[in-house]
Amino acid sequence: MITYDKRFLVWWGLSLFLFQLGSRRQLDFDLDAHGTQVLPNLNRLAQTQQDTRPVHKTLNHFLGHTGAAPYARLRTQMLQRLIRMKALDAARLQGHLVAALDATGHVAFRYHHCPHCLVYQHPHHTSYLHQVLEAKLLGPAGLALSMGSEFIENSDALPSASDDQRKQDCELTALSRLLPALRRDFPQLPLCLAGDGLYACGRTLELAQKHQCAYVLSFKPGRLPATWDEFQRLLALCPENTLQRRTAEGAEQIYRWVHELSYMDDQGRTWSFHAIQCQETIDNQTTTFAWITGLKVNKQTVVDVATKGGRHRWHIENQGFNRQKNSGFNLEHVFGTDPEMLKAYYYLLQLAHILLQVLEASSLLRQLAAECGRTPAQLFGSLKNIARRLLECFRYFILADDAFDPHQAARIQIRLNSS
Ligand SMILES: [Zn+2]
Repeated sequence: MITYDKRFLVWWGLSLFLFQLGSRRQLDFDLDAHGTQVLPNLNRLAQTQQDTRPVHKTLNHFLGHTGAAPYARLRTQMLQRLIRMKALDAARLQGHLVAALDATGHVAFRYHHCPHCLVYQHPHHTSYLHQVLEAKLLGPAGLALSMGSEFIENSDALPSASDDQRKQDCELTALSRLLPALRRDFPQLPLCLAGDGLYACGRTLELAQKHQCAYVLSFKPGRLPATWDEFQRLLALCPENTLQRRTAEGAEQIYRWVHELSYMDDQGRTWSFHAIQCQETIDNQTTTFAWITGLKVNKQTVVDVATKGGRHRWHIENQGFNRQKNSGFNLEHVFGTDPEMLKAYYYLLQLAHILLQVLEASSLLRQLAAECGRTPAQLFGSLKNIARRLLECFRYFILADDAFDPHQAARIQIRLNSS
């Protein structure tokens, strides 16, 4: 019987997502040790001396044994390191790092998979879903780095609720677990929560206050109708709160804002916040966006609040969920059997995506591309291609000694592309 070192098995698991192999079985083929440098490279990364590499089933066995928690801790350490290095500082908003909130589907079954499944009745079938509420730290260069994950479980749902009501209820219930966990992992970090209209309610405001978070939340007439009407009435009374600008892309934007708008929530509590409206016109098409926030809003700050706190929230959808689902990460693939194992795979995916995002946005890759007279996008085309090139290197080249020299590494300055 072979005993594998834990570090070795964690790198084996990370490889699944770093190289975007798509399924666990693919480990056996793409990371075959025969005729490749896979085994020595894995040993170098893990600082081990294994004589063979495991088979894919070993990974399930291992993750079933460790559970998900160690990978969540590893993620926290990675982000703490990036924050300490000030690598994300260009994205700060009035001193805060911005955490975008949103939920997404994780895995779906046609059968009752486990007691935690969320059950959805459709006209002709029933689906059983696992969902997760994510907090993703927004960095420069469009980075959306997973910093908190709260799995949405059956007990979060009101059984009789409509789909909309259930979605709202589930996400807000999960948020009341997510925020204390974020504060435990990042106790001192000035954080600003960014969420869509669903989060614009007393429950989020209460949680934000309790856990000392600033917020920028989408403001929709349908979600807070009375407050919206009051907002529109007050806007007419303060025409001086206006800023007009043309963006680099040629869009005309008119920002208008109101201070100290008052809102009574469904518990009868009264809250006060500032509200911003942005009317953007591109090719004669005008779109209106609006947000509520406790951050300072004036002519100097309004664009920053609406951009870094408001619009960059979309990165959680594009850079975050879409890429994890529609690339070789294969987020919705059922990598493991039981719920805890699924969570462990989920965290491994997040770890790999953090590594790849930082690689993709870093000055090292830009330098490499520049040596070929190109940009990274011209050289690789996509993140998926970067993962494929990484796999080729991992299979056929021995990782160089100097890559493991901490003194040499300390001399390399990595900057994230913030243009
Ligand atoms: Zn389940």
